[in-house]
Amino acid sequence: MRRKLAAGNWKMNGVHANLDEVAAMNDAAASADCDVLLCVPATLINAIDDAAPNIIAGAQDCHQNTSGAHTGEISADQICDAGAEYVILGHSERRADNGETNKCVREKTNAAWAAGLKAIVCVGETLDQRKSSNTLDIIGGQMAASIPDMATGENLVVAYEPIWAIGTGLTPTTDEIGEVHDFIRIRLEKRFGEGVGRSVRIVYGGSMNPKNVAEISAVSNVDGGLVGGASLKATDFNTIIKALG
Ligand code: PEP
Repeated sequence: MRRKLAAGNWKMNGVHANLDEVAAMNDAAASADCDVLLCVPATLINAIDDAAPNIIAGAQDCHQNTSGAHTGEISADQICDAGAEYVILGHSERRADNGETNKCVREKTNAAWAAGLKAIVCVGETLDQRKSSNTLDIIGGQMAASIPDMATGENLVVAYEPIWAIGTGLTPTTDEIGEVHDFIRIRLEKRFGEGVGRSVRIVYGGSMNPKNVAEISAVSNVDGGLVGGASLKATDFNTIIKALG
């Protein structure tokens, strides 16, 4: 039985003044029957860890190397040291803005695992790729090349995030989400064996909000959500937490 995951991605938003929102989310997390995670800017990881005991702290990226001459970067050990338990890797915004390839995402995932972090590896298609019926090929290719061999149900979460749904208010139909999540499950089982393949959580991300969360989370193989905009305010995120848990 996979426990649902309500994961917020704050992106480049949030300062310490926003921790009152986190305190309100912490109350909802206390009575939730799901894992509640906030992937915040590195400057806030420590504060989340301290101020919100019911919320797991996470980061949004880490470098593939353990240390060295990489000005401005942050290592997996460093985010772990700050209190993070999870890290988002291969988000489409990083793939687009920073030219991150599948190979790079795979290296970062290995670095995260070596530091003891759990990795949320993001995959997703563009609108053109969906329109030309290439969605499953793209997802399969990203999974094969971005996810390293040592995956387990403990160290990996796969996030299906159609790029055209992120921050747009658009979402795939529940049938389309189900098709991709079932496909990801089959690929995980084939590659890692049934036991591991069935235990890895697959979360949906892309304009998930208080209105659509119940419908989306009822779809087969949807084990929670990776939520951007709607994770910034407690009024929205608490509704999502309650719907998932
Ligand atoms: C995201 O950035 O991972 C995301 C899903 O954003 P939003 O919920 O705002 O579409």
